[in-house]
Amino acid sequence: MTKVLYHFVMTKQTPGEGSEERRCRWCRRALPAATGRGRPKEFCSQRCRQWDWVSRQRAAELEISDGELVVARRELDELHDRLYVLACAVDDTERDLSDVGSSPSARELREMLDWLLDAARPLRERRISAPTGRR
Ligand SMILES: [Zn+2]
Repeated sequence: MTKVLYHFVMTKQTPGEGSEERRCRWCRRALPAATGRGRPKEFCSQRCRQWDWVSRQRAAELEISDGELVVARRELDELHDRLYVLACAVDDTERDLSDVGSSPSARELREMLDWLLDAARPLRERRISAPTGRR
């Protein structure tokens, strides 16, 4: 966990050349650098733009602030499940690393890396969709 947080902080504090890294307003993924004229992009995809819009509509209906968000419990549960699997994999990997001592073999490292990647991969493309409205 510490390593992930550290990396995040480092990334945040190390903006690219010239300008700060721009991110999608919905999913927070990095946006390509603005090219040419016109307004810089705010979203990485049409889907994110739509979800952001729907979310703002729902927030207005429910009279909650712009900083608050209604999400489907199913999606949040699934995300928490994935995060829990990742947390366990990080713990396992850290324990394995201290168990093997100062010179792990390439095969040992490969096994640890595979386990960590298997846990992390499902989160790679994971996005939270907009709330779907009244039941
Ligand atoms: Zn996006």
